[in-house]
Amino acid sequence: MSSGIQDLIVIGGACAAQSAAIYAVRSGMDVLVIADEYGGQINNTDVVENYLGIKSVSGPELAERYLEHMREYDVDEEVGQKAVDIRKEDGVFETELEDGSVFKSYSVVIATGGSRRKLGVEGEEQFSNKGVAYCAVCDGPLYQGREVAVVGGGYAGTEAAVYLSDIAEKVYVLSRSGKLKGEEITINEVLEAENVEVVREATVKEFYGDNLLEGVKINHKGEIRDLEVEGAFIEIGTVPNSDITNLVETNDSGYIKVDENRETSTTGLYAAGDVTNKGAQQLVVSAGQGCQAALNASEYVKSQKSE
Ligand SMILES: Cc1cc2nc3c(=O)[nH]c(=O)nc-3n(C[C@H](O)[C@H](O)[C@H](O)COP(=O)(O)OP(=O)(O)OC[C@H]3O[C@@H](n4cnc5c(N)ncnc54)[C@H](O)[C@@H]3O)c2cc1C
Repeated sequence: MSSGIQDLIVIGGACAAQSAAIYAVRSGMDVLVIADEYGGQINNTDVVENYLGIKSVSGPELAERYLEHMREYDVDEEVGQKAVDIRKEDGVFETELEDGSVFKSYSVVIATGGSRRKLGVEGEEQFSNKGVAYCAVCDGPLYQGREVAVVGGGYAGTEAAVYLSDIAEKVYVLSRSGKLKGEEITINEVLEAENVEVVREATVKEFYGDNLLEGVKINHKGEIRDLEVEGAFIEIGTVPNSDITNLVETNDSGYIKVDENRETSTTGLYAAGDVTNKGAQQLVVSAGQGCQAALNASEYVKSQKSE
């Protein structure tokens, strides 16, 4: 960087961002990665068995490998703060961090992923970190030999249930729709586990307890039922971290809209990974989209600099 203006800023610290950073440097761009922290969602995942070329790897190990791979390249890093705004002035992007510092670039890739969705029921906030948790891999080991519930029968919920079935005495899986969704292989593991009970057409009414969680009241097919669990894992998907700038259009669910080049509604501003994907939120997709965004950003930056 000579003019104080970076070729590309990549915002995010995980799969999509690190893939974008690698491709961007290899395309000849100088790149700054801005991340509040490294790892992303996969850092909180037990095991990954569907990433092409790697039969099985733990989530944290894969996240570490991504970071090591990125650091093989000459990438500038600004880690420890969130980016809170992206503006465009005279064709140059300005990315502002929490402490007010501003970094300039010709192009930006937003790869800020998603955060866990909350349930929004009584007791959820009160017992958060006192029994109510959002990461089975992080907090599951605390419930050795105890009874727990997993709220959500989708991709994340079924994975969490399989993981917890090796730790807890009993695992309830609360499925609102009544049908488990996710990878067939994981669903079968849930159904075959002797200590897992799938409670279909169940919605959570309330988490209760004294100081710590003592149970969850559910509406099960119209009947109120009480499950005396010490842990409850909310696994109902993610919300996109897209409220970082008003330069992008989002869809009704908050995901950033992009075209086939992964360009947002602002020229030169790209987005990749879970912040753009309602369906197929997977590493392989995020990595591919990070690549696409970086290569297209590279073409854009070259055209800007040759003007
Ligand atoms: C329980 C669970 C199990 C999963 N299992 C699998 C699996 O087996 N296989 C698979 O392929 N996928 C799996 N996934 C999905 C996979 O984790 C995601 O698709 C992938 O992590 C998306 O990568 P990403 O880089 O787009 O976003 P994320 O992983 O969400 O990372 C976003 C990054 O951006 C950073 N960030 C966010 N906002 C800001 C900001 N304002 N400023 C700076 N930095 C910011 C975050 O700290 C993070 O580093 C699983 C997900 C979950 C939740």
